Amino acid sequence: MNIRLDPSACVRYSSKLSQCRKCEEICGFEAIKCEDFKISIFQERCVLCAACVGVCPTEAIEMKNFSIKDFFFDFIKEEESKIGCKYNFVCLSALNVEYLISLALIKDIVLDLGHCENCELDEKVKKQIESNIKEANFILQKISKKEIKSEKLLLQKEKKTDRRDFFKAFSLKNAQNLAKEKEEELKYLKNPTVSIDAAQSAKKREKIIPNKRKILYSVLKRAKKPNEYDRIESNKISFVSSKEIDESCDNCSICYRICPSGALSSNIKESVIYFDDMLCLKCHLCHDVCEKDSIKISPFFDTKEFFNPSQKVLKQFEVIRCNECGNFFTYLEGEKICRRCKIEEEEAKNLWGF
Ligand code: SF4
Ligand code: SF4
Repeated sequence: MNIRLDPSACVRYSSKLSQCRKCEEICGFEAIKCEDFKISIFQERCVLCAACVGVCPTEAIEMKNFSIKDFFFDFIKEEESKIGCKYNFVCLSALNVEYLISLALIKDIVLDLGHCENCELDEKVKKQIESNIKEANFILQKISKKEIKSEKLLLQKEKKTDRRDFFKAFSLKNAQNLAKEKEEELKYLKNPTVSIDAAQSAKKREKIIPNKRKILYSVLKRAKKPNEYDRIESNKISFVSSKEIDESCDNCSICYRICPSGALSSNIKESVIYFDDMLCLKCHLCHDVCEKDSIKISPFFDTKEFFNPSQKVLKQFEVIRCNECGNFFTYLEGEKICRRCKIEEEEAKNLWGF
């Protein structure tokens, strides 16, 4: 089994209105299928290029044998500056823009694109690698003097035979792990559709910030601040956004309840909608679920947010007690009764004629 999907992190499992299918779109082998609000993974077709891992905004997909977070922490300790798919990493498409910026702010890095030319992977994966490097360099240039270099080095990993690896292959623990893996693989082959269990559904209610964002956030905290901040056009940045809410919003609350990272939030009375740019994953879920299309991406993202993240008030509401039931509700105009009492009143009128 090559990749794993955590349905509690995937936005499609939050709402059938979610339009996210980034993983399916990048896969050149039809190994991922997004249907309704579920995802099927055809493990037998997956070649482990890891492009889906790189594009998933919420880190819902991970590789079985490779952790990008672990690579990051090992790599920053080493003197090595080169990263290559046949050297010390998997396909470079797994290194998304946030990881690229974080690495470049810590040390000089050179990406080896030498193997891309003759790689049998889909053209869109190669384009994704180029686009990630371009975007990371564009942002780096706005906030620092750093730059990611890419060269055609054709680096290869040295083959070493390690006695410990040899004996490990025959250990009882390894045999047990292999058996467990085979069992999971068979389960996937029989039913490629990933379902969500009760524990994962409960986890869905938690606001989770992916590792890539936590890493970027802590790297930026330690990085030298630029003398001046700049603005970036929203269509030039793929992983965060600034938001606005227009007059049509009636505080239905779905956006801040469903936002996976807590970028959108409210207070205990639900009288405010707050937004924190640096927590936004640009997963688009809040837009997909907003019936009135009230929430919009602002035209620009301010680079000051990278260094001094702030919580903005997007909208404020008057919250009062309903004259009928006494519960709090968002008062917009007219009679001081809540939506539920209003519906009940209208139903009573239709039924009894008063
Ligand atoms: S959130 Fe990730 S796993 Fe879910 S549909 Fe989007 S890209 Fe795929
Ligand atoms: S604010 Fe919207 S786009 Fe950003 S993480 Fe929350 S749901 Fe996704």
